[in-house]
Amino acid sequence: MAALGTPGGTIEILKKYDFSFQKKYGQNFLIDTNILKKIVDASSITDKDCVLEIGPGIGTMTQYLAESAKEVIAVEIDKALIPILEDTLSEYDNVTIMNGDILKLDIGRIVEERNEGKAIKVVANLPYYITTPIIMGLLEGHVPVKSITVMVQKEVADRMQTGPGTKDYGALSLAVQYYTRPEIVAQVAPSCFMPKPKVGSAVIRLDRHETPPVDADNEKFMFSIIRAAFNQRRKTLVNGLANDAKLGVSKEKVSEALETMGLPLTVRGEALTLEEFAQLSNLLF
Ligand code: SAM
Repeated sequence: MAALGTPGGTIEILKKYDFSFQKKYGQNFLIDTNILKKIVDASSITDKDCVLEIGPGIGTMTQYLAESAKEVIAVEIDKALIPILEDTLSEYDNVTIMNGDILKLDIGRIVEERNEGKAIKVVANLPYYITTPIIMGLLEGHVPVKSITVMVQKEVADRMQTGPGTKDYGALSLAVQYYTRPEIVAQVAPSCFMPKPKVGSAVIRLDRHETPPVDADNEKFMFSIIRAAFNQRRKTLVNGLANDAKLGVSKEKVSEALETMGLPLTVRGEALTLEEFAQLSNLLF
């Protein structure tokens, strides 16, 4: 049998199982061994690591992960892929295949049961339709995770890594940078997948900070402010925050805080750094 991470090997498996791609599950399988090696290298997995793979597909990347890691837990939503995975991964006794929706699973509990609560590494070629909820769930859910190395849509990778003053800067950038240090490690062309996605892709590695780079007295409140600021992106921060009834802050209070910080009253949220959001949230809380 040809290697899985090649067009021939993938087609062979798809034919053998009469598998049809499900668009609704964001199925674009990797067919380039160089990219597969790059992702696994970038994740710095060792034989001491327990790895969570989200969406193993036909098991192409899972095989590489199983060669390097102590243990791999692969969560796949599509039932039709389970018999295929059992076949392509039959040689590996360190892989557990789970059929389920990653957004509904209690990942913290899996880590507790499978890795004695010690931090795991997440590696995946993510289904693009749920990239943000997956990443936010891992970060905000405080799941013990050392690093997250994932293939995502190029624009989303840019959003995670960028700073103030760019159109890509927003709530996702700030959340990712509060919890992790992001680094784009590769750009990937549509021709590396089967079927080809309509968008460009990138591999990004997020290394979890041991302690956040800024001091927020109340994390939850800071993120409510950030969300309110970017929900009304075109408004000034004073209006954007005061208009959000759930925040319960007045125009006067926001103006006062901005003055204390030496910022103009006309400033928009997109101009503030993470540190400034933390400071503003501490003044308003
Ligand atoms: N890892 C494979 C590869 O690189 O060839 C497949 C990657 S494909 C982009 C995304 C995979 O995630 C698909 O196998 C899809 O069925 C699966 N998937 C989609 N939604 C999911 C969910 N909510 N939970 C778990 N897996 C999901």
